[in-house]
Amino acid sequence: MRDPRYDILFTPVKIGPVTAKNRFFQVPHCNGMGHAMPLAHAAMREIKAEGGWAVVSTEECEIHPTSDLTPYVEARLWDDRDIPALALMCDKVHAHGALAALELSHNGPTASNLYSREVLLGPSHQVSKYGYPSQARAMTLHDIREYRRWHREAALRGKRAGMDIIYVYAAHDLSLPMHFLQRRRNQRSDEYGGSLENRVRLLREVLQDTRDAVGDSCAVALRFATEELLGPGGVELAEAQDIVGMLAELPDLWDVNLAAWYNDSVPSRFASEGAQEPFIDFVKKTTTKPVVGVGRFTSPDTMVSQIRRGVIDLIGAARPSIADPYLPRKIEEGRADDIRECIGCNICVSGDMTISPIRCTQNPTMGEEWRKGWHPERIQPAREPSRILVVGGGPAGLEAARALGQRGHDVSLAESRRELGGRVTREARLPGLAEWARVRDWRAGQIGKLDNVSVYLDSLLTAQDVLDFGAEHVVLATGCHWRRDGFGRSNGLGVPGLADNPRVFTLDDLMNARLPEGRVAVFDDDGFYYASVAAELLRERGCDVAYVTPEDSIAPWSVNTLDYRHIRKRMAKLGIEAIVSHNIANFAGSTLTLENTWDEQRTERACDAVVTVTSRLPDDRLFQELLQRQGDWADAGIRTVRCIGDAEAPGLIAHAVYAGHRYARELEEPATGEVAFKRHFHTANPDDLRRETLT
Ligand code: ADP
Ligand code: SF4
Repeated sequence: MRDPRYDILFTPVKIGPVTAKNRFFQVPHCNGMGHAMPLAHAAMREIKAEGGWAVVSTEECEIHPTSDLTPYVEARLWDDRDIPALALMCDKVHAHGALAALELSHNGPTASNLYSREVLLGPSHQVSKYGYPSQARAMTLHDIREYRRWHREAALRGKRAGMDIIYVYAAHDLSLPMHFLQRRRNQRSDEYGGSLENRVRLLREVLQDTRDAVGDSCAVALRFATEELLGPGGVELAEAQDIVGMLAELPDLWDVNLAAWYNDSVPSRFASEGAQEPFIDFVKKTTTKPVVGVGRFTSPDTMVSQIRRGVIDLIGAARPSIADPYLPRKIEEGRADDIRECIGCNICVSGDMTISPIRCTQNPTMGEEWRKGWHPERIQPAREPSRILVVGGGPAGLEAARALGQRGHDVSLAESRRELGGRVTREARLPGLAEWARVRDWRAGQIGKLDNVSVYLDSLLTAQDVLDFGAEHVVLATGCHWRRDGFGRSNGLGVPGLADNPRVFTLDDLMNARLPEGRVAVFDDDGFYYASVAAELLRERGCDVAYVTPEDSIAPWSVNTLDYRHIRKRMAKLGIEAIVSHNIANFAGSTLTLENTWDEQRTERACDAVVTVTSRLPDDRLFQELLQRQGDWADAGIRTVRCIGDAEAPGLIAHAVYAGHRYARELEEPATGEVAFKRHFHTANPDDLRRETLT
């Protein structure tokens, strides 16, 4: 039974000629599958519709070869041949009573055209955004007319595909209507440049064009950035207020957020739920049309509060819908405590950034709906319940135990510590990472509801304990630890002076409250978030912190999770010195010797302690001992022993959760062959390929 306080979330909202059945709106989000993997893409969107989202949107959809986003894989509607892929998505979304929305985009100077090899287009001559060594040329009035035609034709194709809502995109510093608004990108002196009225002209025209083309049956949505946080060169709040005033009633729906993407999908380390409210709450006061906004909403109370206070009408979500495609249904069915809350880690974003199918830390089935047939809520029941021992209660062990329990197996989970969660419990105590604990909390909560899963805390198991336990299957998820010796990408033989030095600390030391004092160098040869978090922790504790890395930039991989700029700004604010392109040559006494990566010049600096963040080693001793005693397994009733997660190969929390889930899915199931998933083949009919090769 639904909590009546949440009734308002399930009232329909009229959006122009269409009606959303409730207020849950999956706003556009990239997924690394797009036009290249249409079956996988459609299946992923379908599960959102099935999970109760009233509107399910595509990602950005290129409208023309001059808007080619290669190497990124988004949606595409260059001509009629692209319609079937999106029609497939529409059919799947409609099958569950949801509306399908299409985000048309032409990114002008922020496209790439690497595949089409067309010349980039922009309001004025300018450099391309993504650093490719080319420029965009200024569009002529003829170009503008052509662009409007392409957009209109793409809208019509979207309608033919079955879309219910067609977006005009003017957000994220990523589309021509937005680029014409931006003074830094639009230096035209004709009717499309200069005054605000002129800079808004193209956006107004495209909204009108779209309405004329498809407005009889499709709603026209405007995705609009109200603030770029770039000062007068960008769209600023005051100007955005004027723009919303000028266009207030023209779209059927306002979808409002911040630009660029890193200011919109901010990691939880740097922004909390609902953080965009001060930037978007004016919109509803300016228009009578419905407004959708985002804020990594996972709490139904926060959602209701946003609606009741008149901030937004529709609960927009990308990440919360990725972490839990069934979020609306869970609230509707009075199961809000079953929501798998997004942790704000942005591993989902890294799929798009690394041009690979989307993945999610919390939801290991994300991106696997079609290729592995995985469902976020359902799992194949065990053919025969088996007795399974899971050792280790970190993300891998917890997810394995939960999913094995869901299958109906008889599961025992042994954890050596007095609390569950492994690395997520420990990392969640570090600055800004509190939400990591949701990985533990959701799984512990679900396990608590399963009678067939028993949890034993404070239970450090030995190989003999495992053999004595009487399990048929044993899965070891015993985690890993950080290396002290500096071994890593840049130092395959370690770093002299680190291994046995009492002034050297690892992240494990920090998480176990063994903290250095004084002048500390945090040595990052890992490249993701850990070193910056360590630097922040130590700075907060009063240390004088230098961040040293052999890379040319700090935390380079954090670009993929949109952390990078936020990390840099926070480090600058905290007064953490950044020393890039330097390796550690030696650390002896209180002298740290650094070596420049490129000219090999050495410098010495006074230093009381070094924190190494370089690489990790699996805690797989138990696994190795059991392998040595393989001869005893049969007598002990053990059929299989597997090692998963960080104990197999240290990685992201997302890897560990996925490993636990995969183990549970595949246990006692027939092997799927060398390639454990379905693949897209680009030629529908192999005979066509053969013919093309022969002629
Ligand atoms: P992963 O990310 O792969 O899940 P974690 O490091 O988060 O790995 O979790 C591993 C957990 O396993 C830790 O909580 C650790 O205390 C526990 N553990 C390690 N060895 C044993 C053991 N021999 N018996 C029981 N628990 C163990
Ligand atoms: Fe949320 Fe992380 Fe999943 Fe993205 S990957 S949806 S940020 S939990």
